[in-house]
Amino acid sequence: MIELSHIEKKFGDHTVLHDVSVSFAEGSVTALIGPSGGGKSTLLRCINLLEIPTSGRVRIGDEAIDFRPGVKVRWASIQKLRRQTGMVFQNFQLFPHRTAIDNVSEALTTVLKWPREKAQQRARELLDKVGLAHKADAWPSTLSGGQQQRVAIARALAPSPKVLLCDEPTSALDPELAGEVVEVLAQLAREGTTMVIATHDLRLASTIAQEAIFLDAGVVVEQGPARHIFTNPQRQRTQRFIATLT
Ligand code: ADP
Ligand code: MG
Repeated sequence: MIELSHIEKKFGDHTVLHDVSVSFAEGSVTALIGPSGGGKSTLLRCINLLEIPTSGRVRIGDEAIDFRPGVKVRWASIQKLRRQTGMVFQNFQLFPHRTAIDNVSEALTTVLKWPREKAQQRARELLDKVGLAHKADAWPSTLSGGQQQRVAIARALAPSPKVLLCDEPTSALDPELAGEVVEVLAQLAREGTTMVIATHDLRLASTIAQEAIFLDAGVVVEQGPARHIFTNPQRQRTQRFIATLT
């Protein structure tokens, strides 16, 4: 359902992604692993076009864009593709001056122009799904990190994206709070939410991912079933990296 073909991303002269071709099936959960600086965040940001690939093709469902150096893509096309995605960040990035429920409903009212009542209804359902119905009117600063991240997940899901992109969703949390976020993501996985999760958290990755991609220095070194990559990687670079996690 989602396909990146021959993606290259440069920042100035520095090539951060080299000819990356990966695809994600509907309902699949993929762990994106690899050393810091390897390009995980950049790859996620090239899926939702927070970063514009230097070259290559991004397809989500029926929408695709071809990128070429020096050729500007229409903003409307980028917006259209981006709206197929939801993103969860390491540091939650909630709007501090909006309550939990308003964080979740914001995009529905401002971007999708839903009536306020309908947006609030949807936001309530999503807060309930992440176990935070009772915190609808709470300010982000009064919530624990785990609760803030669960609100952020509800917010990302509000416009019913085709894929949920998570950039190290548990790495700012201590283990107990990380656990409640893992539980929510595991529940979404069981419901068939398509997810791509950049993570160093082997518990998260091995609990919920069926697929794994090992990205090192901007190159996909190895990809396949998560169980194989975690327990029996074929490439030495992957073996060395997995050994540092366990
Ligand atoms: P990871 O998420 O795996 O740690 P990143 O995607 O954040 O890796 O970074 C990959 C490389 O791209 C790093 O060398 C980083 O310094 C570089 N990089 C990321 N974002 C930018 C940017 N906006 N400008 C310049 N270089 C960047
Ligand atoms: Mg990163």
